[in-house]
Amino acid sequence: MNVRIGYLYPDLMNIYGDHGNVLTLVRRCRWRGIAVDVDELKPGDPVLPGRHDIFFMGGGQDREQVMVARDLIEVKGEAINREIEDGAAALVICGGYQLFGRFYRPFDGEELPGIGVFDAYTVAGRKRCIGNVVAKSALGGKAGLVVGFENHSGKTYLGQGCTPLGMVTVGCGNNAEDRTEGAVHLGAVGTYLHGSLLPKNPGVADFLIERALSRRGHLLPLRQLDDTIELRARQAAIARAKKTH
Ligand code: GLN
Repeated sequence: MNVRIGYLYPDLMNIYGDHGNVLTLVRRCRWRGIAVDVDELKPGDPVLPGRHDIFFMGGGQDREQVMVARDLIEVKGEAINREIEDGAAALVICGGYQLFGRFYRPFDGEELPGIGVFDAYTVAGRKRCIGNVVAKSALGGKAGLVVGFENHSGKTYLGQGCTPLGMVTVGCGNNAEDRTEGAVHLGAVGTYLHGSLLPKNPGVADFLIERALSRRGHLLPLRQLDDTIELRARQAAIARAKKTH
């Protein structure tokens, strides 16, 4: 079995340790004997049909979002949508998440068109949401929780066709109004949770890997890993989040 990760704009969209998500996907595949390759997809690089099983895009400030938005729309967007509809997985964080919606309207400057993987849109908020987040989520493993760290001013609103990743019990999440956090569409997961997300949320990592493998016809359940350390890290993050809110 082989998984190929398409790492979108690694030099431009990679803040608050988001690269750690790619390292986690690679490790959790290799620990299971699954071969995994990572392709960097930079501005101008095309997305080839059927080549990638998981797409990843990290967060970035407004400046970097402007730098990648045009390429995402003009070079990669249509193909990424097609791949996700065809069963590919994706994990997009914060600024990357915003550009996978329908649009991102920053405070100053042009509205940035998104590629519309998620039926969602983002507008700039006056208050910056910074802090730990805990959310109840179906992808949160046995505890049913996902944890992370948020740092964004954008407020994302989900359309009817969009399922949240979870419902926050601590922190702002999508918009600090409706308690939703993130978005899920088929195998694509968008979230505001930096941290990076996956080391402390193995359930989300394995969801992405399972989706990637099932697209290639490998429908077997993933071999369970010893997640003692990961779950201990998640518990510590939950305790810290509860203390700081
Ligand atoms: N520029 C976006 C915001 O502030 C995203 C920031 C990020 O990726 N952390 O909402």
